[in-house]
Amino acid sequence: MSNEAKVNNFVSIMGIPFVNITKEKLLQNHLFPRLIEKEKCYIVTANPEMVMRTTEDASYKKQVNAADFIVPDGAGIVIASKFMKQPIQERIPGFELMVDLLEFANDKGLSCFFLGAQEQVNEKMIDEIEKRYPHLRIAGNHHGYFSIDDPAVVEQVKASEPDLVFAALGSPRQEQWITAHFTQFEKGLFMGVGGSFDVLAGEVKRAPDSWIRLNLEWLYRLLKQPFRWKRILKSLKFMVLIMLGKR
Ligand code: UDP
Repeated sequence: MSNEAKVNNFVSIMGIPFVNITKEKLLQNHLFPRLIEKEKCYIVTANPEMVMRTTEDASYKKQVNAADFIVPDGAGIVIASKFMKQPIQERIPGFELMVDLLEFANDKGLSCFFLGAQEQVNEKMIDEIEKRYPHLRIAGNHHGYFSIDDPAVVEQVKASEPDLVFAALGSPRQEQWITAHFTQFEKGLFMGVGGSFDVLAGEVKRAPDSWIRLNLEWLYRLLKQPFRWKRILKSLKFMVLIMLGKR
């Protein structure tokens, strides 16, 4: 990787180095050039719950820290950085980063592999992608309910030679899958995108803009999907630890 392509401003939160850069600069100065140069890269969009998991699971921490770019997704990360007096410039929601990358792929005719979500959600999302991004090439797609080590899935992705691979397997599965197979690829931007396929397929709605602006996307998700309460508890634990000085 060329030096000028490196992000040099990070904020480390509980041992996870987050890039401290705006979404626009990340795209224009780092991700788009890499896509054009066909340089491999791995992006993690991490929220407080994922950071907490890294403190409890050393191998997961390695999988996250292997990323070229760890992006602050989740209001809690930005609030924590302010609390630590090292304010991160902005929150970069993984969903929005993915949409910008899809637009770029559409403009440049790049190919994308869509790995993850339930089979019918994945198919519905592919229909939506075809409608919204007619010049983007669909290298292939596969649902997310397979074993991380399943060689058939990796072979399918490899054979399609994608420029971008979106892995919507949830955490930690998406980081496990990417790091387990990354070295086998010669090119490709790999990104874990959590529940983004469900949103693109229209199965799950993102919070209204006003809620997002008020940093309340997590509350909207909790109200819509109450089974997520355990995750919110993890995020609360994260905030308490930050306030107690665990950095
Ligand atoms: N998923 C998957 N395989 C699995 C578990 C989950 O493909 O074994 C998908 C699930 O269908 C959903 C996404 O991964 O589309 C996880 O969404 P969630 O909102 O839980 O993601 P996160 O909160 O981790 O971003």
